[in-house]
Amino acid sequence: MNCRKVREVLFLYTDNEMEEELLISFKEHMEHCPPCAQQITRTQRLLLLVRKRCHRVQAPASLRERILTSFPHRRGSR
Ligand SMILES: [Zn+2]
Repeated sequence: MNCRKVREVLFLYTDNEMEEELLISFKEHMEHCPPCAQQITRTQRLLLLVRKRCHRVQAPASLRERILTSFPHRRGSR
């Protein structure tokens, strides 16, 4: 596998849809090619962020609660 091929199949890997044969040569390339390994890590992080944002839409109430707990708006006593 070469760097170009890695970029082609990158999304198969991040989606866990890579066939085992391909996965083996993919991982083999990662071990010998730090730039590609880095690229994979970046892509995975980005995808995680996107997925988190999608989930967050579902839970605005708990998020608001968390913000209120960490920043109490009632400052009663001096
Ligand atoms: Zn490479």
